[in-house]
Amino acid sequence: MAVIDEVAKTSAILHRRMLINGAWVDSVSGQTIIVENPAKRKPIAEVPRGNAEDVDRAVEAASRAFPVWSRTVPRDRGRLLSKIAEALEGRLEEIARLLALENGNALRTQARPEARNMADVFRYFGGLASELKGETIPFGEHVLSYTRREPLGVVGAIIPWNAPILLGALKIAPALCAGNTLVLKAAEDAPLAVLLMVEICQEHLPKGVLNVLTGFGLECGAPLANHPLVRKLSFTGSTEVGKSVMRAASERIVPVSLELGGKSPSIVYPDCDEDWVVDGIVGAMRFTRQSQSCTAGSRMFLHADIFDSFLAKLKSKAQALKIGDPLLEETDMGSIINKKQFSKVCGYIDDGLKRKEATLVFGGLPPAEGPLAEGYFAVPTVFADSSNDWRLAREEIFGPVLVAIPWRDENDAIRMANDSHYGLAAYVWTHEIGRGLRAAHAIQSGWVQVNQGLGQVPGHSYGGYKQSGIGREFSLEGMLDSFTQRKNVTVNLETPVRG
Ligand code: ADP
Repeated sequence: MAVIDEVAKTSAILHRRMLINGAWVDSVSGQTIIVENPAKRKPIAEVPRGNAEDVDRAVEAASRAFPVWSRTVPRDRGRLLSKIAEALEGRLEEIARLLALENGNALRTQARPEARNMADVFRYFGGLASELKGETIPFGEHVLSYTRREPLGVVGAIIPWNAPILLGALKIAPALCAGNTLVLKAAEDAPLAVLLMVEICQEHLPKGVLNVLTGFGLECGAPLANHPLVRKLSFTGSTEVGKSVMRAASERIVPVSLELGGKSPSIVYPDCDEDWVVDGIVGAMRFTRQSQSCTAGSRMFLHADIFDSFLAKLKSKAQALKIGDPLLEETDMGSIINKKQFSKVCGYIDDGLKRKEATLVFGGLPPAEGPLAEGYFAVPTVFADSSNDWRLAREEIFGPVLVAIPWRDENDAIRMANDSHYGLAAYVWTHEIGRGLRAAHAIQSGWVQVNQGLGQVPGHSYGGYKQSGIGREFSLEGMLDSFTQRKNVTVNLETPVRG
């Protein structure tokens, strides 16, 4: 912990390695990637810049480890995952601080809850190993036909920087529980907390079962997606990269799970001009994560009768959020991940400011001077516009920019909510539960929350409709569907007995 605090405060740099076949290694090329603290725009670490050769080594190690791991009694695999959960629980604060330092998410509101959730994922899947059950099929009295849930082999998993330890845990725990071995590629912007999580995992696992690479998408992610020995691909990230991962999967006919982008709608009914709903919208929009979340409720369809008064309340709540150093307890909202993303968010705000039809309700471009200018800090921003058809209402911004759109006819609100190529999350706000549920059923999204704007919990079959993804991984069904394949064995019981 002291090391992390030293790195946060001084110019000290951490040197971290990748995990291949139970050993911590540099990349074959010896090249590295610099990891920055986005709240200070300052280097904090270097990690290996893995490429295709490193991918080969990791996939071969995972492939060698597969026969023994896949035949390990499931309960024993589960027991190891439970031990990992316990070990992680003992080090949550350290992991959370490292995460806040590298990805800019505030420690109190984001990094700590994410660390807790990460450990819970290992606990959850640790208890599920005995649920890898098959079925018997009633072919007739003289036939025994049954299915087995068998692992797929080496899983290649690629994760983004926005919730790296939770998403990493969500690949590692179900894949290993089901008997697969894994090569995980961490995101280049936030590999450090993932490497620490994996270091703790490795203390309990046989070598080669879990391998972790650091590197850029094209140099390291793409060779992993295209590796002939990888038998399953699991990707979380942008829709564009998701398509390329799916193309790679189609070349070899390997199953693929994709959790991609979103432009999630929130529909607020006229009976909901109330503080608890405003708090819910702040949560659903993930403002305290700088809205760098694929489930951010970034299109708000607000009934025209309450439009102005609701926005006034939202303004006072959103502007009360304390933005600043992610490691300080008082901070509600940290910084955007990197310069590229920061410029992209500013570009969208610029577009909004230039558009005649749109009104800036509050926020705007980030401060160019003062303490916030030291890092990639953006401020909560809301534009009002009657159209669902402009760039800010259609594209995933991945920054704290919300578009508010008025409605009068419920069918219009639902039609606009569904008029998107995304379909990940959605939020409905009303006191009339029947109406809320009818809307929930009409919305084309994998996850609709009524009267709350919370995050995922283990056991939840979470995933997208449309271009927001394919497959579910967060639950028992997710593990069975995404990380096992069914084999049927059919036995003729009337085979003559010899001798
Ligand atoms: P984000 O915009 O959230 O960074 P990306 O989809 O670009 O989302 O990145 C998510 C993960 O995918 C990262 O680990 C990144 O390195 C990896 N990645 C990026 N491009 C590719 C690619 N062409 N093939 C495989 N992985 C990639």
